[in-house]
Amino acid sequence: LRNSSRRVTAATSLKSFRFGSTLAFIEASNGQISSASLSALTAAKQLGNPIIALTFNEGVADSLNKIEGLSKIVTFSSPEFEKNAPEVISPILSSLIGDSKLDISHFIIGSNATGKNILPRVGALLDVQPISDVVAIESDKVFKKPIYAGNVIQTVETTDPKTLLSVRPSSFAPIDTTATANYEIEQQATPELNKLNIKFVSENLTSSKTPDLATSKIIVSGGRALKSKENFDNLIYPLAAKINAAVGATRAAVDAGFVENSLQIGQTGKIVSPELYFSLGISGAIQHLAGMKDSKVIVAINKDEESPIFNVADVGLVGDLFEIIPELTEKL
Ligand code: FAD
Repeated sequence: LRNSSRRVTAATSLKSFRFGSTLAFIEASNGQISSASLSALTAAKQLGNPIIALTFNEGVADSLNKIEGLSKIVTFSSPEFEKNAPEVISPILSSLIGDSKLDISHFIIGSNATGKNILPRVGALLDVQPISDVVAIESDKVFKKPIYAGNVIQTVETTDPKTLLSVRPSSFAPIDTTATANYEIEQQATPELNKLNIKFVSENLTSSKTPDLATSKIIVSGGRALKSKENFDNLIYPLAAKINAAVGATRAAVDAGFVENSLQIGQTGKIVSPELYFSLGISGAIQHLAGMKDSKVIVAINKDEESPIFNVADVGLVGDLFEIIPELTEKL
């Protein structure tokens, strides 16, 4: 019995799935592969199929050569594509995925703003139901994903001929980028885009004084208790600067105008999972927890010892943040 159960385990292990290739979408800006794409590659490896890394940013082909386990790199050489405008590149992706000569069984993309913009379009073009926000891969057809703001984890099985996935960067560690490989780089010709009535014009990026929320190992987050933008600036930012942390906030803090909404963490904001998360003057509403409860260590400061944030905190300090934060910042 023991032997037969072992055989079953081996047969269902992820490595044993070989149903064609996985096309992994590689997003990049300023010559850097996005951390969401590095996480998507980790997930792609778990599927066990040969991985074709596809990028519209030719400049990162060298960086892809530092990743182990790809089968080839495909690039498109046209500045037209570099901004990854979803209207422009989704038809190209869907025609590649649908091309029977390429034998693509899976398409995988990071679940960030770009992924959320591209995946449904590709799904619609191929008439395939995409599976978004995957947090675990059970097999080549079965995936786990959160619903109801992370309160329920749903297991879904696809019966579609192609499997289209977006994966949560917080659930898959970024793939190692220190290997030395020498992949075949296939440069695709610029496809005919005449029929598209859309053209990239410009973009306005928010500049931030602090590290990026998506990739920072430490996040210092403030809530409504800060009471004003001045307090937020004078208490949260100096603490974050001391420990090289990104700054985050609750929706209440964003709605009150303490910070811009790109810093919001939660169900309708960013999903993060840093090594260390400081929750300062935050009650711990489920919609906020949905964005940060996977953080490795959570430190909460709140003056109400009954506050729900203490249910998820690893370290809790009951007290007034207007006294504790300056003292903490000074001691650090
Ligand atoms: P509060 O809930 O008001 O908590 C403030 C806390 O500060 C309290 O616990 C209080 O005890 C403590 N406090 C007060 N004074 C001090 C002091 N001097 N020192 C120490 N502690 C003090 N919220 C999000 O954050 N992100 C989301 O993405 C999000 N999406 C939502 C989506 C929907 C559909 C809905 C309905 C709500 C969403 N919300 C979201 C809002 C969420 O329900 C909460 O209202 C919000 O998270 C509360 O923010 P807060 O913890 O800053 O404020």
